[in-house]
Amino acid sequence: MIVFDLSCEDGHRFEAWFRSSSAFEDQSAKGLLMCPHCGSGAVTKAPMAPAVPAKGNARPAVPAKTEPEPEATSQGGALPPAVREAMQKLARLQADTIKQSTWVGSRFAEESRAMHYGEKDAALIHGKADAKEARELLEEGITVAPLLIPFTPPDETN
Ligand SMILES: [Zn+2]
Repeated sequence: MIVFDLSCEDGHRFEAWFRSSSAFEDQSAKGLLMCPHCGSGAVTKAPMAPAVPAKGNARPAVPAKTEPEPEATSQGGALPPAVREAMQKLARLQADTIKQSTWVGSRFAEESRAMHYGEKDAALIHGKADAKEARELLEEGITVAPLLIPFTPPDETN
């Protein structure tokens, strides 16, 4: 079976099933087709429905979502460009922060505490804290954040 969109001379559209395409031609030639809406025998295949929504149903145009680029997993461990870019951005941000920040080395915990308890003016500092020190600072309500990008302390560069 095959379905055709048909329309009559008055523009009524309807679907009709035929055993085959030639069955349609045959019935059409014999004048056996009739519009169910108005009874007209002048029935032809309707032009294919256009692939756009009818007026009134139309939704405001929304920009199509761009497909995310496939991740570069097959390039021998190379980072996808988006990740590499994000890392570079992060590294620049960290470098900028460190420029305004004072290296306090192993006095980090001490300095952080002093600022937290108002013994010193608050300032950006970075330095070394071991896991125990960092945990103790956090427990005292002192915010510490690990540097996200590997950083070589100035006193360890040689
Ligand atoms: Zn009709």
